[in-house]
Amino acid sequence: MNERQLIFESVLPSELDPSRFSKPVIDGVEQPLTITLIAGDNVVQQPVEKKLAASIEDDFDDDELVAFAENLENIPPEILLKEEKQKKDRPNNPLFKYRRGVLSVSDLSAQIWCEQQLTYKFLYPFILNDDGEIKRVDDKPHMLRGTSLHLERELEIQIKVTIECKTREDSYGVRLLNMIQGIHGLLTWNKPNERYITREMPIFGNMYGGKLYFRGIIDEINFDPRTNQLEVVEFKTRASRTAPKAQQTYTHEIQVNIYRTLLDELIQGQVDKSLYFQRFNLESTMLLSDSVKNEYNQRGFTNVETLENAFDLLVKLSFQMPTITTNGAIEYILQSDKTWKHRKEFERDERHLEELLIKSEPYWLSKRQPQGVDIEDAYKCQWCDYKDICTWREEKSNEFSRKKRRLN
Ligand code: SF4
Repeated sequence: MNERQLIFESVLPSELDPSRFSKPVIDGVEQPLTITLIAGDNVVQQPVEKKLAASIEDDFDDDELVAFAENLENIPPEILLKEEKQKKDRPNNPLFKYRRGVLSVSDLSAQIWCEQQLTYKFLYPFILNDDGEIKRVDDKPHMLRGTSLHLERELEIQIKVTIECKTREDSYGVRLLNMIQGIHGLLTWNKPNERYITREMPIFGNMYGGKLYFRGIIDEINFDPRTNQLEVVEFKTRASRTAPKAQQTYTHEIQVNIYRTLLDELIQGQVDKSLYFQRFNLESTMLLSDSVKNEYNQRGFTNVETLENAFDLLVKLSFQMPTITTNGAIEYILQSDKTWKHRKEFERDERHLEELLIKSEPYWLSKRQPQGVDIEDAYKCQWCDYKDICTWREEKSNEFSRKKRRLN
C-alpha cells in the first residue's frame, strides 16, 4: 500500500460571481415540491416564479451553496445582467439548460437507466415522501450511506488538505492539482513489487471528439509495475448480501468504460485545451491565487502561474504514463458490513460505448424527445418516484391494452 497521499479540497471565498457558475440550471428557477397527493389525485405543481439566479450544485457542495445563498443580497446589478445575457445566449437544450454544457458521467448512466426519469428529475427534483417530507429525489438513506463509505475508502490512503480559493479558476486549479499529483505519484513510483493506488481522481473530456463533454471522479486508479497493467475501479455499495444482477451491473460497467476512455484520451494527449476552458467557462490566463500557486510549488511543480500552465503540465505528465488502461473492475461493498465484497472484472466494449453516445447525444441536443423504458425493462417503473405521473408509462400501457383488444 502507498504512503498516505494528499488530496486537495477547495474552499470558496465569501464573494462569488454567480454569472459564472457552471451548475445545471433548472431554468433559473427554484424548484418547489412538485408532486402532491390531493384528494387521491397526483397534482403536479408548476415551478414558482424565478427567485434565484443559477443554481451551483454541480460545482460546489452544500456548504458552498449556503455561502452562495448568503451572498446573494450583495450581488451587484451588473453581474445579474451578465447572468441574464449569458442565459439568453445559451442553447435551449437539456445539455445547456440543465448542465451548462458539461455532463457528469453519472448523467449518462441515469440516461441509460431511463431517459424519461432523468428528465423528470430535472423538472421535478423534489418529491413528497411517505412520511410527508419534501425531499430531493436522490436523497435516499442508502445513497447517503454510499457517500460516507466512499469517503472512508478515500481516507484509507489519502489525507484531505484544504486550499483557500478566491476564484473559480483557483478551484479548478485545485482539481487539476489532484490529477497532477495522482499521475506524478504513479510516474515516480519506486516499489517494483507493489501496486500504486490513487483514489478520487477527477477526469474530463469529450470522448471520440463528440459534442458531449463529460466530467467525473474516478474512484480508484491502480497500476501494477510487475505486469504494467493500469486498472480503473468503481466502488458501489449494496444493501443486500447478494451479487448484483446483470441489469444492475450494466450501467456500472458503462460508467467504468467511460472513465477508461476519458483517462486513455488524456494519456494519449487527445484533449482539447480550448474546449476545456470554454465548456467550464474558465479564464485560462487568469493568475491563480498565491494559496494555490504555493501548493503547486510545495509539491515540486514550479512555474504554475495560471490554469493554462496547470493544464499543460497535466497533459505533459499524462503523456509519460507507461500504458493506457488495461483493466476495468467494479467493487461492491455491503453497506451494513464492509467485510462483504464482490468484485466484477470485465472487458471494454468500445464499439458499444460509441453506439450509446450516438444514441444519447440527440436527447441532450434537443433533437428528439426523452424516451422511457422498453416493455422488457418495465420492472424499473415499480421503484420509480415518477411512476404516477409518467406519460411514457401511460402510453405504453394504453398501447398494450389496444394490442390485447385487437388480438381478442
Ligand atoms: S415510470 Fe418507468 S418509464 Fe416512467 S420515468 Fe419511471 S422508470 Fe421511466
